[in-house]
Amino acid sequence: MPTPVGHVLGALSVHLATAEGEAARLDRVRVVAVLAAAIAPDLDLLFKFVDGRNHHNNETHSIGAAAIAGLCAWAWARWRARVDAGRFGLAVAAAWFSHAVLDYVNKDTNPPIGIMALWPFSDAHYKLPWPILRDVWRHFSFEATVHNLLTVAWEIAVLLPILLITARLTLRRGH
Ligand SMILES: [Zn+2]
Repeated sequence: MPTPVGHVLGALSVHLATAEGEAARLDRVRVVAVLAAAIAPDLDLLFKFVDGRNHHNNETHSIGAAAIAGLCAWAWARWRARVDAGRFGLAVAAAWFSHAVLDYVNKDTNPPIGIMALWPFSDAHYKLPWPILRDVWRHFSFEATVHNLLTVAWEIAVLLPILLITARLTLRRGH
């Protein structure tokens, strides 16, 4: 799993790519919803405390969960009478799925390896065989701290240029 830094950078790219107009780009509610959607899939780490079993990288890391999140966001936006309800739901679904995409391309050293990307259509776990992003060590030691700081630095090196290019293209589009 990438760190929250990687997921936030990915989410900001999704936000800019799906926002229509300056008002949408600067809409704080939209930004918070998109960031929350991009981080929420990892709340499955907490399910362990419910039944003692590991649920990480399963249903929440899938196209089905992204669709459910998008539908909930759309319904909420309709209830709030937002004129951009459709785009709002789409942005939340895309941000949720961006989490799955980043998890798909990173190195995974904690079983189950890969993510249940196609749930509810398939329970199989998928993983890019040539990882682009580094793994996170989930224990506390000096080596782990150095390793994880390098992971964050590499995420910034890969994902910040994507965010800057997205910002540039969005602003050049002129709306
Ligand atoms: Zn994840």
